[in-house]
Amino acid sequence: MDARALIGVGVIAPSPPLRLDIDADALVANWRWFAGASSRAACGAAIKADAYGLGARAVMRRLADAGCRDFFVATWGEAAALGAYPDDLSLSVLHGLREDDLPAALAGTARPVLNSPAMVARWKAAAGGRACDVMVDTGMNRLGLSPEEARSGLLDGLQIDTLLSHLACADEPGHPLNEQQLFTFRSIKAAVPARRYSLANSAGICLGQRYAFGLTRPGLGLYGGIPAPGAEGHVRRVVRPHAQVIQVRIVAQGATIGYGAAFTAPVAMRVAILNIGYADGYLRAFGDGRGHAIAGGVACPLLGRVSMDLIAVDVSAAPSVGDGDWLEIEYDLVTASIATGLTQYELLTMLGHRYQRRWI
Ligand SMILES: *Cc1c(COP(=O)(O)O)cnc(C)c1O
Repeated sequence: MDARALIGVGVIAPSPPLRLDIDADALVANWRWFAGASSRAACGAAIKADAYGLGARAVMRRLADAGCRDFFVATWGEAAALGAYPDDLSLSVLHGLREDDLPAALAGTARPVLNSPAMVARWKAAAGGRACDVMVDTGMNRLGLSPEEARSGLLDGLQIDTLLSHLACADEPGHPLNEQQLFTFRSIKAAVPARRYSLANSAGICLGQRYAFGLTRPGLGLYGGIPAPGAEGHVRRVVRPHAQVIQVRIVAQGATIGYGAAFTAPVAMRVAILNIGYADGYLRAFGDGRGHAIAGGVACPLLGRVSMDLIAVDVSAAPSVGDGDWLEIEYDLVTASIATGLTQYELLTMLGHRYQRRWI
């Protein structure tokens, strides 16, 4: 192949035919709402998984400008991807400290969240008196020291900044595990000294001030998800996918559309082919009319199956739509979750890397 035919050297690739509009004001307003609901506790932000797909560095900067000081990522790779950040911000790495993570952990200022006795021993041996965070498992049986381990003296000598635990069922306000975890966390707080304590994610904040302690850690709600019934009407939508029309065609009555010929046109239809598909996280679960695009306020239902990179929508009722137009893809997280069986978390984090992320 002629190397000059490849886009690269000296040629600027055109902007992609799909984009995410990300509403910076809504993001900040959502953080302020969770900060208010956190009462006197500081309100941080979970920015793992590239801030649930929005872009971790961009989210960190905007929330830091709004007053957020505490950020959480999953891994040291995610911490490194943030690049440099101001000294007055605190970054915690939730998955802790594998042997391989030590060089990165010792080189930077982010704190590991120590999840196991082995991690505690590793940090004590390598980092001397440097501050760390500790996760205690109060009933989720995912990551963290058991309450017995936490009280055993194993943590003596550690400089603990934040002692954390995580709620398993905070999105179900009546679930008995919430009160059990709160009770256990309080008993650990009484036994293990730390600069501050943190239990609540987005849904945990909605359980009330007793769950807030010194620091809360919302994620989903910042990005427009409704974590619990109490957040409805307060959380604003942040992410709006848009896709460009590649082609408009007339499909004759009785003709079929797309793979599997899964849709047959009952009448002649005007159909727009949009540049978005399951490789963009817009999964096949949206097919057969469960998803739609919006053209000038008109809902344009999805016809047939979702392809890897394309969908077909009915624009018979939106005659002005033509090649090159941008249509919004309806992506209300709650209704999309109900329509597809995907969680709001999945709907956000699947969106992928082919979108241009445009902050508006
Ligand atoms: C992801 C995560 C959060 C944020 O949870 P949301 O439900 O998105 O608010 C908080 N704490 C921990 C430990 C997490 O893993």
